[in-house]
Amino acid sequence: MDDVIELLRSEPALWIGIAVLFGLSIGSFLNVVVYRLPKMMEREWAAQCAELSGQAPEEQPTFNLAKPRSRCPSCSVPIGALQNLPLVSWIALRGRCAACGVAIPKRYPLVELATGAIAGFLAWHYGFGPAAVLAFVFCATLLALALIDFDTQLLPDGLTLPLIWAGLLVNIWGVFAPLQEAVVGAVAGYLSLWTVYWAFKLVTGKEGMGYGDFKLLAAIGAWLGWQALPLVILLSSLAGAVIGIGLIAAARLGRSVPMPFGPYLVIAGAVALVWGDAIVAGYLKLLG
Ligand SMILES: [Zn+2]
Repeated sequence: MDDVIELLRSEPALWIGIAVLFGLSIGSFLNVVVYRLPKMMEREWAAQCAELSGQAPEEQPTFNLAKPRSRCPSCSVPIGALQNLPLVSWIALRGRCAACGVAIPKRYPLVELATGAIAGFLAWHYGFGPAAVLAFVFCATLLALALIDFDTQLLPDGLTLPLIWAGLLVNIWGVFAPLQEAVVGAVAGYLSLWTVYWAFKLVTGKEGMGYGDFKLLAAIGAWLGWQALPLVILLSSLAGAVIGIGLIAAARLGRSVPMPFGPYLVIAGAVALVWGDAIVAGYLKLLG
């Protein structure tokens, strides 16, 4: 074991290579989470509604992250283990289902590729050690949240809440921030968007964001500490304004179309994780 650790420590290329392969397979799993978790929540809500109204719950086949096996959405043929290799299978199949030939959405291999790239980057950035692994857990969960919010405008409690606890737990050892700053970060993250939400609602009568956004910023505060929050809010607002204006201009979307804020928080949280200190130091230098 010590030999393996010593090898990974002394051979960064090997460490980064393993991280990329690991990231690709986690990316494959994230595709499943992003597709199934909102559907699992809908089923749960439907069952709760039925229970409240006194109806017998509908008997439904098991549906969770592990069951049933992945199937082609077009022809329902189960996807074999060999066709389920991240990225490789998509390239080998030339982006089509082996059974019916329907095109597999490019987003699946792109998510796998992005997750592999993130894992490789973090392995390079942090070097061999627990910080790289933990930063990847944080970023992979953020990526899943961004995609689910983009698809469904939901930020599932099943991901945001464990991310808060995990951030506090990790910072018991001060991996990304001292524990005190992480605890204050979780509370301040939640309260700051909660305040914005109510101020916006009182002024305009509209709901600008959802409770999931508060929990997501609480999680980012728990991982990075409260000092990161002003930067995260600034970056996410900037990203939201730039991308939002771009989308409105390009697609001539109505300005009242709801746009999820979660993906911008995710981008800002990831940037703050890796470059937060550098950005703040550069800014303070500018101030002289
Ligand atoms: Zn098919």
